[in-house]
Amino acid sequence: MKINILHAGYCTSPEHLAIEDGRWKTIHFPAMFALLRHPKFGAMLFDTGYSYRFFDETKKFPKRLYRWMTPVHLKEEDLVVNQLAAFNLRPQDVSHVFISHFHADHTGSLCDLPKSRYVYLPHAYSHLRNLPPEEDMKHAFLRGQIPTDFDTRSQEVDMTKPVLLSEEYTPFKTGYDLLGDGSIIGVELPGHAHGQMGIFARDDDDKLFFFVADAVWLKRSIVENRPPHKMANMLFSDPAVYRETLGQLHTYYKTHPNTIVVPSHCEETISQLNHSGGK
Ligand SMILES: [Zn+2]
Repeated sequence: MKINILHAGYCTSPEHLAIEDGRWKTIHFPAMFALLRHPKFGAMLFDTGYSYRFFDETKKFPKRLYRWMTPVHLKEEDLVVNQLAAFNLRPQDVSHVFISHFHADHTGSLCDLPKSRYVYLPHAYSHLRNLPPEEDMKHAFLRGQIPTDFDTRSQEVDMTKPVLLSEEYTPFKTGYDLLGDGSIIGVELPGHAHGQMGIFARDDDDKLFFFVADAVWLKRSIVENRPPHKMANMLFSDPAVYRETLGQLHTYYKTHPNTIVVPSHCEETISQLNHSGGK
């Protein structure tokens, strides 16, 4: 499998919110997505970053507040479809999108991928399916970014069939074999949002990647086992569980130094991998 770490736009926010002892400085939060080119399943994505739909969907109050809280920067060339073109891929070539969770900065381009199957943990979406529109903001959810045929194209992860993970994944004990061939292993990373899913994937050079979505915003949180500012707790589905997940990631990081751990919004991590990724 070939793996490329890309991002579609970024937002800005103060660093001191993202990590406990952070500076009072505004930093960039790239909206990472990964292109996974699989020998059998072809092009697949992990998340989709922002698209111009974010601006369409946040024109009016109260959703306009979303723009103020996280000012978004996006250029034409950042769009997922345009970045796919650079790999000679058309939107309809994307066979699967693994959706970590349904915050708006992860779902921006779902509508642009007409043939994709959507793979996610069932409870990541079940509470949003019948949500009253006025509660969207509370869940950082923009329903206009969800395709109208989303349910028919969904391939929810069958959580009744977990796989036991080898020591290679300790302390994560169970996961989900998302394609049935062992190439993409999903693990639940709860606390940030309901049913948040991270994935493990190995590339052709035998490098193991662990995409941890928003389980942390900055890689340094994992390295130092240091959570975000307490104020961020109000954004999380379960702050206590968030802390447990962070502890597990820290343990994993310490015991598996060769794995490339990728938080979705860590600029340092994303820019390093962008440079060394190549095509
Ligand atoms: Zn999120």
